[in-house]
Parts: sequence; structure tokens; C-alpha cells
Amino acid sequence: MPIIKVKNLTKKYNGLKAVDNISFEVKQGETFGILGPNGAGKTTTLEILEGLRKPTKGVAFIDKLSIKKDREHIKEIIGVQLQATAFLEFLTVKEILQLFADLYSNPIDVDSLIKDVMLTPKKKSYATQLSGGQQQRLSIASALVNNPKVIFLDEPTTGLDPQARRSVWQLISRIQKKGQTLVLTTHYMEEAEKLCDRIAIMDRGKIIALDTPRGLIKSSGIASRIEFRVTKKIDIDIEKICRGKLLKNDHRVVIETKEAEKSLHRLVECAEENNVDILDLKVSQPTLEDVFLELTGKKLRE
Ligand code: ADP
Repeated sequence: MPIIKVKNLTKKYNGLKAVDNISFEVKQGETFGILGPNGAGKTTTLEILEGLRKPTKGVAFIDKLSIKKDREHIKEIIGVQLQATAFLEFLTVKEILQLFADLYSNPIDVDSLIKDVMLTPKKKSYATQLSGGQQQRLSIASALVNNPKVIFLDEPTTGLDPQARRSVWQLISRIQKKGQTLVLTTHYMEEAEKLCDRIAIMDRGKIIALDTPRGLIKSSGIASRIEFRVTKKIDIDIEKICRGKLLKNDHRVVIETKEAEKSLHRLVECAEENNVDILDLKVSQPTLEDVFLELTGKKLRE
């Protein structure tokens, strides 16, 4: 059962089509990622769903409510973390979240929310005293106060250092375990790969691919590369091992194949039969970055 349905959505700014006739559905409980470079139309898409911008064309429904006709009702069931959340400087973490909670008729308990976002030791601190990762967790917490059915996160880890990014990922995985539906945008492919059940790859306002991370990589047809050293040269019959290319076969073996798992298995068997050890094995599988490059001819981040 889809909880979000988007059909033929278009948003024009003067002559520019920021979002160009996109359609997709998000299932209840799934984490759906919109991945694309800056300017692809990710934020515009999210802000239309959140009721912050009006589409030029097309329709969208959240939990069967129309983004055009039921805006007020939708606000009650969604949680929105904005890209730049300026928190009031004279309030503590707890006071800020209490303020947000007071806006809703059925908020969740603020103390348990603070615990969920791993900010209990910072309950009495001012937002300005928090680290980047802690501020971001506070901003995500503000999107959770009404116990929303759908949570929208716009670039939740942009600008964070690796450690702070991991702490936000940890929080997102806690939200996922609770079964809430998440829609997030990112231009970090490793983030999309790690967190999302399905990903829509967006470029210039259009969705150019939509699938699970594995599905995107598999259907791209990009080969994996297997490399290793051998204690003595072996005769490798590439036809028997896999459908692939044997790029090098002396003390170092390099194979390019779309069937990495099958090939590895057969290579190990082949080495055993020949009484040869496989050393320094390295398998490089294609990433979403490679998929993006293949689809658009350009890198996700220049
Ligand atoms: P992303 O989130 O993928 O970076 P955006 O949705 O922010 O992309 O922007 C998509 C395109 O729309 C960009 O070319 C951007 O410059 C343009 N755009 C966004 N907001 C406005 C606006 N309010 N007025 C005019 N153009 C805009």
C-alpha cells in the first residue's frame, strides 16, 4: 500500500522546469531516497509534498490526502526537517522541543524524544552550544514531535564531519526500526546506499532511474573487478569461470565481470585444483556513483 503517490508533478520557475513531470510511489514504512546533484530538483519535490510550494502541474497524495486540498490535515501527519533550521538562541534543547510539541494536539513525550535522539546529556544546553551533529539531531527531533506517519529529511548530513554523519545515520536507523516512513534527499551516494530501501535518481528535474540500491547497480550492467595475486601462474579458462574478461593473468590476475559472486567461487575452486594460493584478493563492485556517471555522463559531485 503506497502512503505517498506522486503523479506527473511539474514545477516551473519562470522558464525553468525545476521538477519535470515526475511520478513515483512510496510504500508505508519504507525509506525512500531522492539522490541527485545540486539543482536536480530534490528540495522542490520535497517542499511540494510538504505543502510549502504549489506544483505547476500534477497531483500528489499523502495517506490518501491531497496536497492541494488537504494541506492542513497533511501537516498533522508529516514531520519536516528543514535544511536550515535556526533555533531560538535563548531556549534550551528541552524548551525548544516543548515549544514545537505544544503546537500539536497529540505530541509525543518530549523527554523520551530527547532520549531517542541521543541528546539527554544536552537537555539543558542551548542549541548554540551543540556540535553540528547534535544540532542536526535536534532538528530531526523537531520533525518527530507529532509522531508523524511520514518524515521528510532534506540533506540530513550535508556539511557534517564523518563522525557526526554516523550519529545522524544511527538516529535514522532508529526511526526506521519504529516503522515510520522516511523520505530523504541527499547528494551522498554512500548515504543513499546505506539508508534507503529504494532510490529515485534525479537529474535536471527528471527521475532517470528508480529501484533498490542493488537493483540500480545490477541493471546498470557495470562490471565488477576482481584482482588478486597468485603464488604461481595458473591457467584460467575465462569461459568456464564466468562471462567476463581476463585482463591480466600472470603473478597478478585481473578479471572484469558482471557475475562477481559466481566468478569468485569458481576462481577459488580453480586455484585449489592447481594447488595455488590466492593472495591480496580485492573485489571492486560498482557504486551508485558509477551508476550515476553511466546514466548522465557526469559525476554526482563535481
Ligand atoms: P536540489 O534540491 O536538487 O539542489 P532545488 O529543488 O533546490 O534542487 O532546485 C532546482 C532548480 O530550481 C535549481 O536550478 C534552482 O536554482 C531552481 N530554484 C529553486 N528554487 C527556486 C526559486 N524559488 N526561484 C527560482 N528558481 C528556483
